[in-house]
Amino acid sequence: MMLRSFIAVEIPSEIQAAIALSIAPLKNALPKSLIRWVAPQNVHLTLKFLGDVSPANLEQLAGALKVEAASHEFFPISLGGLGAFPSTRRARVVWIGLEAPPALDALRRGVEATAAQLGYPAEERPFSPHLTIGRVGQNVSASDLVRIRTALEAARVGPLGQIRVGAVHIFKSDLQPGGSVYTHLYALSMKSI
Ligand code: ATP
Ligand code: MG
Repeated sequence: MMLRSFIAVEIPSEIQAAIALSIAPLKNALPKSLIRWVAPQNVHLTLKFLGDVSPANLEQLAGALKVEAASHEFFPISLGGLGAFPSTRRARVVWIGLEAPPALDALRRGVEATAAQLGYPAEERPFSPHLTIGRVGQNVSASDLVRIRTALEAARVGPLGQIRVGAVHIFKSDLQPGGSVYTHLYALSMKSI
């Protein structure tokens, strides 16, 4: 049995709730068929997508990641702002932005190197940290894209607070018709100072 897995930073539930509140007007401004919104409790910061992993390999990875995580100190991240990849004009992924110190990229590189040592292919795209809050449907029309862009540009999402990153987590993700269901598997603590 393989586990579709990823490594992420958790977002505290108060911040998830603040995000949900701040994007409610945007959600209400668009037909439900255009964007699959991420459930508030599922919002997270992905550090590394692993794909299908055997339970044994995942346990090995968790062991290595425990050592890696413990070598990184806690750091803060400020959340806020809204945008879309690759652009608001051709939105595919809708996100909440973040501001993080270089420590976030150091953590991400450490996670990447740890995974690479165990044979997981490295991410080729540059790291652009964000919180995915919605995914635009595959079959949207040109006029839908204009509608999405207009709604995104009208939406105002201010500062959403600061979090303190103190651990890295491994989740499994079960793809289901109603949306992916995440299950927490491992928590690897960082070094508090
Ligand atoms: P769904 O695919 O049902 O819309 P999801 O994307 O949240 O939901 P997964 O596809 O299992 O669920 O992804 C889990 C996490 O890994 C998410 O943060 C997702 O953005 C990220 N992810 C998924 N596939 C990749 C990939 N190929 N490269 C980088 N990150 C990925
Ligand atoms: Mg996905």
